[in-house]
Amino acid sequence: MADQVWRLDFQMAPDADPAYVSRPEVARERVAAMLGHDIEFEIVWVGAYSYRTMLMERFRHGRLLFIGDAAHAKSPFGARGGNSGIADADNLGWKLELLLQGRAGPEIPDTYDSERHRAAEENVRITSRTGRFMQPRSKMEYTLRTAVLQLANEQQVFARSLINTGRMMAPHHYAGLPAFGARPEDGRLVPNVPLRRGGADCGLVDLLREANADLLAFVFDAGADLGELQRALAGLPVQLKVVGRDVEDTAGLLAAQTATPPGGIALVRPDSHLAAGFATTDPADLRAAVLRTLGRAPNGNQDATRPVLAEAV
Ligand SMILES: Cc1cc2nc3c(=O)[nH]c(=O)nc-3n(C[C@H](O)[C@H](O)[C@H](O)COP(=O)(O)OP(=O)(O)OC[C@H]3O[C@@H](n4cnc5c(N)ncnc54)[C@H](O)[C@@H]3O)c2cc1C
Repeated sequence: MADQVWRLDFQMAPDADPAYVSRPEVARERVAAMLGHDIEFEIVWVGAYSYRTMLMERFRHGRLLFIGDAAHAKSPFGARGGNSGIADADNLGWKLELLLQGRAGPEIPDTYDSERHRAAEENVRITSRTGRFMQPRSKMEYTLRTAVLQLANEQQVFARSLINTGRMMAPHHYAGLPAFGARPEDGRLVPNVPLRRGGADCGLVDLLREANADLLAFVFDAGADLGELQRALAGLPVQLKVVGRDVEDTAGLLAAQTATPPGGIALVRPDSHLAAGFATTDPADLRAAVLRTLGRAPNGNQDATRPVLAEAV
């Protein structure tokens, strides 16, 4: 098979009539042209397949928040539809929980909008590019696709990576958005790294689930002054986990994935995204990062969230 050269004249013309090309005998002829007329096959179903791309300008409209396909619809190439809807829910769920508890600031739903809108823009950009490869919209795109298929067919290895039938979904990196720290790593998804606790295996996701919408601050300094850190975080929905005492990062993957040096702190959100990381255990820096993550002003009235919340949600 390695030296078989597939015929390329089965491609559908950009201006093909969907009703005509969906006719079983026409589809049969195209499949035979692709496989070779001596190959037997059965057509189970044939029909026109189409998709569209839609993106709301904003995902928050006052007390209404839009997620999933209601907020953004795209072609299914790359498994980005359902997956990104789940990521929307993951981003919003803990924020609403903390808002309803009166522990997040009224601005926190806006961070859902800015974070997930940017993720949706990325998904639309990537799936649209795939869509234009699968279904060229212009003569130039059609020529490019034909050339890529031809070169790949002729064993030109570089051309194979240009065949775009879908780029698989990857978590969005929220770098540069207001709720995150300034390091290039801040904002990225921390994978479910394996850890140990009390002599038993666990994963980061287990700890996040148990934290019940609280943030987790991993302190990579077994000798840190926790009293000072605890005082700085009093009343805030954040739990301190001392690495080497509360939890073992045996393979060093938590430190690597959060880019935290020994003596530093990694602040992880309930949706597993890295809010911020620090090279030291400065209580003021950590407190400021927690407040930023919660959409709360550093010097605002920390008790005034409930009345505002009633208006926000
Ligand atoms: C062919 C195809 C393949 C796909 N493959 C993948 C894939 O491999 N991976 C992936 O991640 N995604 C894939 N997707 C995309 C994925 O299916 C969607 O993005 C996902 O289902 C959207 O979920 P949702 O909950 O936002 O919306 P929906 O799944 O559309 O759910 C909305 C629900 O609300 C209901 N509803 C609507 N109006 C009302 C009303 N007024 N009252 C009550 N209920 C209402 C609807 O009946 C529906 O059940 C694919 C899509 C297609 C078409």
